[in-house]
Amino acid sequence: MTRTVLRGARWPGDVAFEGGRLVAVGSVAGQDGDTVVDCDGDIITAGLVNTHHHFYQWMTRGWAVDRTLFGWLSTLYPVWARLTPEDVEAAALVALGELALTGCTTAADHHYLVPGGDDSVFDAIARAARTIGVRAHIARGSMDLGASRGGLPPDSVVEDLDAILASTQAVYDRLHDGERIVVTVAPCSPFSVTPELMTESAALARRLGLRLHTHLAETLDEERDALARFGKRPLGVLDDLGWIAGDVWVAHGIHFDDDEVKRLGLAGTGVAHCPSSNCRLGSGICRTADLDAAGAPVGLGVDGVASNEIGGLLPELRMALFLARQRGLDPTGFRPADALRLATEGGARCLGRDDIGRLEPGLRADVVVWPGDDLADVLDPLAGLVLGPERTARHVFVEGEYVVRDGALVGADIRALHTELARRARRLWPRDAAR
Ligand SMILES: [Zn+2]
Repeated sequence: MTRTVLRGARWPGDVAFEGGRLVAVGSVAGQDGDTVVDCDGDIITAGLVNTHHHFYQWMTRGWAVDRTLFGWLSTLYPVWARLTPEDVEAAALVALGELALTGCTTAADHHYLVPGGDDSVFDAIARAARTIGVRAHIARGSMDLGASRGGLPPDSVVEDLDAILASTQAVYDRLHDGERIVVTVAPCSPFSVTPELMTESAALARRLGLRLHTHLAETLDEERDALARFGKRPLGVLDDLGWIAGDVWVAHGIHFDDDEVKRLGLAGTGVAHCPSSNCRLGSGICRTADLDAAGAPVGLGVDGVASNEIGGLLPELRMALFLARQRGLDPTGFRPADALRLATEGGARCLGRDDIGRLEPGLRADVVVWPGDDLADVLDPLAGLVLGPERTARHVFVEGEYVVRDGALVGADIRALHTELARRARRLWPRDAAR
């Protein structure tokens, strides 16, 4: 077994790994037989962790550009209902490829549309993750509250409660290995699921030792809907169902009051902060710094690209810093290092992992080398990485193996993936779309 040494990085120095695990960080003395990778002037970080995404949404970029969340969803549900597992696999390949190129080594995908109950779509997502080489936390999403019963989605895209639970168990049996493919139980959102589905999903996840994920407190529309149907704010509804707990992370988590922030911190419930998506939909600004200070795990997510339009994880660090400073009207409370911490360690905590997210001996060798050639004049290298020009990773390693090498994916050709995606996506367009 040979040791690999990433040598000469400007920050944090040398990084060495062997057998898929980190063995040294800082100043590493050479040994006979080392494989040395020249990283002169580059920046090395732990692999970034994406805590919320909908890979399939690569099929629908640029739709409903001027809608709020509810209007955007209502426009897109019938379009998404037409997606095949092959479409989702093409989208997942691009999603994971773009994530890897922007330094992501672990990605959560929340897939909640399963037309006709065909859950082979989760096998397709897992196949895409193996092709690209990124760790995937595959959230078996679900909706069981159609419009005829007071939900937002049309009845045609929701499933039956018992079928959802049986499929979730089957997806776990087929795909979960706990390291490279991790299955999560994930009813979609308060306005598309029944309380019974939330309760039964939590029971199933806890029986199998899996984590729980859902959308929460994304918009004021959601808050009004919860108050009208349950007489409670969204967090109170979830708390009653046993969902404010340490094995849960929620997406967005924008509209929380002070007591709710404290409650999340005490329970250890994680929040996936998705800054670009929140801005595109005009949903609000997450209380990132408050949640972090309260002790809640906070990670970053790109969210689906139908509400993000980029799909790279590195740009979200800059967005998270900007929004935290605008929210607090304070440039001192949230630094570039905080953005990086959320994107690595915070994300790992959301996903319930203590084996990734830090550059520390013993942890898995999920590592990113960022090119630093254009940052040599920048006084603070982390400010250069987080706030400076956008960049793709020079090298990305997962478990010590190259996933990106010299700026290109190892497992696929990203241009070919985009060509295939476009061929599939364009067939969904309205007849009068500009081609
Ligand atoms: Zn989402």
